[in-house]
Amino acid sequence: MNIFDVLIIGGGPAGLSCALTLGSAGKKPFVADKKIGIFIHQSESGMHTALFNNALGINPGTKGGDILLHGQKHLFDLYPQIQQISDEKVLKIDGKEGNFTVISEQNTYTAKQIVVAVTPSANFNIEGLLSYVAAHPKMPEAKKRIHLRNIDHVVAPGIFVAGVLAGHRSQFIIAAGSGAAVATDILSAWNEGNHTMVHDVLPADK
Ligand SMILES: Cc1cc2nc3c(=O)[nH]c(=O)nc-3n(C[C@H](O)[C@H](O)[C@H](O)COP(=O)(O)OP(=O)(O)OC[C@H]3O[C@@H](n4cnc5c(N)ncnc54)[C@H](O)[C@@H]3O)c2cc1C
Repeated sequence: MNIFDVLIIGGGPAGLSCALTLGSAGKKPFVADKKIGIFIHQSESGMHTALFNNALGINPGTKGGDILLHGQKHLFDLYPQIQQISDEKVLKIDGKEGNFTVISEQNTYTAKQIVVAVTPSANFNIEGLLSYVAAHPKMPEAKKRIHLRNIDHVVAPGIFVAGVLAGHRSQFIIAAGSGAAVATDILSAWNEGNHTMVHDVLPADK
């Protein structure tokens, strides 16, 4: 059966960063046989109206929309083994760890684990996750943001949350960092509980 080991839902900073970190570990023996996918639906991200002057590593004056476009291309160019599922919005999640059914507007998928990294809007309506929704703990009440209740990004067995939806304040670096944190938690679990990071290193002559 065509089962994803991990399906990431959301192609904003948190989801893309999670996918890049998992993709960068592709040569590790405990990752080589893993099937990973990401729903890249970007229309609701606040990034489209954001202008970046305060994010480390991003040239001042960079448009948020360009970061999303480059992020998707970066993922495709370096880690094409990560399946990008473009322009599909997830409607419903059913099942439990090891056998989730993920239903989008167009298709149905099966996944062992899920990372939810969608916009923390009051209109959040992914069926199967609504019982975890609570008011956002670190955003002004007037913005009516929500988060998914979690402990260290774990909502329930096999369901992770990343980004502002995890209860983090809305800053690009924090959202992207939480996506990477979830990825390293998944990698550590795949690596039999050994703490795992993915670091590329300059050759000695550089
Ligand atoms: C006007 C503005 C200016 C900002 N300026 C800055 C700044 O200067 N510096 C800074 O650090 N931060 C800034 N930010 C904050 C930054 O944009 C956010 O912190 C960041 O976008 C959060 O990333 P995220 O991945 O958690 O969520 P999002 O960016 O919201 O990404 C979530 C993604 O999930 C997708 N999605 C939603 N529902 C579904 C679904 N059902 N199925 C599949 N996909 C779905 C959305 O389309 C979206 O692409 C700004 C934000 C705004 C609005």
